[in-house]
Amino acid sequence: MATLLLVADVRRIVPGTTLAFDDTDSPEGMCTTYLATLMLDELRDYDLIGLPRLVRLNPNVPWKTRGNAAVSIQLGTGTGREAVCGHIGGRTIKCFRSGTPVDPEQLLARAAEVLESNARFEYHSTNPGILCTLNRPPPSLYWKAVREIVRLEDVETILRGCGAKWKVYKGGRGLIGAAAAAAWRPRDRTWEVITYRHPSMLGKERVIDDASVIVMDKSVASTFNNYDHENGHVAIVPGSPCPVLYGIRGDSQSDLLLASDMIRGEKPERWLVYLSNQGTEDHIVRKRIRQLRPGDSVKVEARVTTMPVTIPGGHVVIRISDGSEIDAAFYEPSKSFREVARSLIPGDEVVAFGSVRSSPRTLNVEKLQIKNLSRDVKKVRNPACVKCGKSMGSMGRGQGFRCKKCGSRASDSSSVRVEEPRRLALGWYEPPVSSRRHLHKPIRRMSKGAINKI
Ligand SMILES: [Zn+2]
Repeated sequence: MATLLLVADVRRIVPGTTLAFDDTDSPEGMCTTYLATLMLDELRDYDLIGLPRLVRLNPNVPWKTRGNAAVSIQLGTGTGREAVCGHIGGRTIKCFRSGTPVDPEQLLARAAEVLESNARFEYHSTNPGILCTLNRPPPSLYWKAVREIVRLEDVETILRGCGAKWKVYKGGRGLIGAAAAAAWRPRDRTWEVITYRHPSMLGKERVIDDASVIVMDKSVASTFNNYDHENGHVAIVPGSPCPVLYGIRGDSQSDLLLASDMIRGEKPERWLVYLSNQGTEDHIVRKRIRQLRPGDSVKVEARVTTMPVTIPGGHVVIRISDGSEIDAAFYEPSKSFREVARSLIPGDEVVAFGSVRSSPRTLNVEKLQIKNLSRDVKKVRNPACVKCGKSMGSMGRGQGFRCKKCGSRASDSSSVRVEEPRRLALGWYEPPVSSRRHLHKPIRRMSKGAINKI
């Protein structure tokens, strides 16, 4: 892979015509990002302005196909500095720092043809949407789409206000994601280099050398979610039969290409670098427990009120309270993360990150900060009588003790107690790589400081 020149300021508004699309894939194949590479190949007479954007939306929407990802790219006539950001169809893909827009109607007509010949229309919940616009929708649309449920008719109203052109297929729900991707202005951001398989390899097992992924994971610190050490699982390779060979995510655009060069195994046919909201935790909102609604992705600061209970299926549940209470569930696939829950005791102060389930009403914990650990003091036996040395009997809860032999009394606090050392440390805990969501902000990213404000 060629050395990448940095497109320095991702927050800069890049002029160009925005093309965005979503919901084109199915569990059996395709991938909206692969469609992006097909578009760049097909629309090669336009210049790419800025990096393509891979935008993940609310992970709790019930109808997502896989990762709920939408793609937005800016096309036009490029001006100024250019940088290599991919390789497609034997051709190096470069993106320009700036450019002038092209006619959205013409662009839409051509891009829609590419979508129509590649989207998985046969799948029942694939409802593609595509748009072109000179004026991007307001960022508020992105924030709503990553955190809540957005209605198609509201999106159409916003797009009309922007003067956008669009096309929808079947239910057209993909227009929501497309518009949200177009509306994204990064506050926090990461990058992902995605490599794709040669069409002749589709359906065959992906052969990627585990050891090379482990070496890459250890040596390129700005990357994340590469390898699940707990489950011995290569996480950069998808499990679905889509055209993706592997994707490496990270905090440095240039490091990603070094990282990708370290991977041994099947050779990619094409690759492309995306700017992304993956790993940013943009979906999380701070809330009080009484404000929680099903489908919310939240962080709540609370105190543990019960001992952990392991329920059938191996899930661990504790009750937490900030004045109101909710059960916090640590699911079996989160493996060792459950051990953290099993070590909590009443009085511990935590910040729990997760999503709210309606039935049973629980907070599915996806990350945990332990802010304060209470002392684990246990009564081991009743006190011995100071006069005759016999073990005293309890007079009832809070009533103290009495010697059965001589009648002497002792206070409640005179029982023999031991303090167990806590097995937990203060700090952050998260599930292993394989059970994290795309928007999950890994602890590895948080060590950079500033990000982990509560
Ligand atoms: Zn006694």
